[in-house]
Amino acid sequence: MSLPRSKGILFVISGPSGVGKTSIIRAVLERVEHLVFSVSCTTRPQRPGEVDGIDYFFVSTEKFQQMISENAFLEWAVVHDNYYGTPASFVLENLEKGLDVILDIDVQGALRVKASYPGAKFVFIAPPSFETLRERLRRRGTESDERIARRLENAKRELKHIPEFEYLLINEDLETSISNLISIIHAERLKFERLKDLEIVRNLYGGDHDG
Ligand code: 5GP
Repeated sequence: MSLPRSKGILFVISGPSGVGKTSIIRAVLERVEHLVFSVSCTTRPQRPGEVDGIDYFFVSTEKFQQMISENAFLEWAVVHDNYYGTPASFVLENLEKGLDVILDIDVQGALRVKASYPGAKFVFIAPPSFETLRERLRRRGTESDERIARRLENAKRELKHIPEFEYLLINEDLETSISNLISIIHAERLKFERLKDLEIVRNLYGGDHDG
């Protein structure tokens, strides 16, 4: 028997560029059921290997601005000189259906979601040290030195916001980080507060709970 599901949970994953967020999230999506990824819109150029509609929706600045004026974003931000935004309808529809939704967004965006959607769960993924991050960005080789320097400056600012997040993953080892994120998701799903209104659960405890 599989339990009926209540409304989905929104997981907001943030952390500096190059920290390994994308690899962790990709693996978690393959291993966890009832979890979907919110594909963001961006005006940044497509990188080799990226697929439109899967990694991002690559849109023009005009299109992005039009979407802002139509209130189409749950949040949006300018990151490293480009626009990035989370399409609201996809997220809200899936949460309503009972699916959990995962966002991979920068810290500014996460803090905006926190203000407008406080029930979301906020996870910060940090590098073991600033030097590790510098090394990873260099090795990735997708950016010029100037752009790497800009990303590192941004990373410094982002790390200052760690205390505003509920969960902290220090990504020293990819497999460990994947299983830690999966643990967070499962623990959130098992909270009594989330389950208490399901009929099957009410039948178990009698449906009266004033705590
Ligand atoms: P990248 O260009 O390396 O794919 O992403 C740069 C940064 O933008 C990353 O920190 C990523 O999490 C963030 N980002 C991606 N999509 C969104 C979004 O929809 N909103 C916000 N605020 N940040 C995003």
